[in-house]
Amino acid sequence: SDEKAAALSTAPSDSPTIFDKIISKEIPSNIVYEDEKALAFRDISPQAPTHIIIIPKVKDGLTRLSTAEERHVEILGHLLYVAKLVAKQESLDGFRIVINDGPLGCQSVYHLHVHLLGGRQMNWPPG
Ligand code: ADP
Repeated sequence: SDEKAAALSTAPSDSPTIFDKIISKEIPSNIVYEDEKALAFRDISPQAPTHIIIIPKVKDGLTRLSTAEERHVEILGHLLYVAKLVAKQESLDGFRIVINDGPLGCQSVYHLHVHLLGGRQMNWPPG
């Protein structure tokens, strides 16, 4: 898939990403939720009728879940709580949360993010 190709060609790094420009509103996005710590916006290449990306506004070294440290516990919990709030806002009757980590996990943007997917029957196992 295109996502897999992008993920395999993106070297993991702590450099700024496109999500910084979404946070600063330098580039437009379809924001569905915002608070002081988190931002949620519609994925530009949706894989389900509802596909929303939830990110911390301050990356603080959270390029990927595998770089998480004790200080990130609060924001990690907050991102999942925001996912729940947004799922309710979107009237989702069931949904899936995904965090891709690293090239093998198909991560292509190195700013930790939670995918919220819903609006269709999900399959298991994922590809
Ligand atoms: P993958 O590309 O394999 O899904 P990630 O888990 O890193 O890898 O997800 C990054 C997500 O960010 C992708 O679903 C992609 O469509 C989305 N995305 C990239 N750029 C933008 C953008 N400008 N606005 C909204 N979503 C974006």
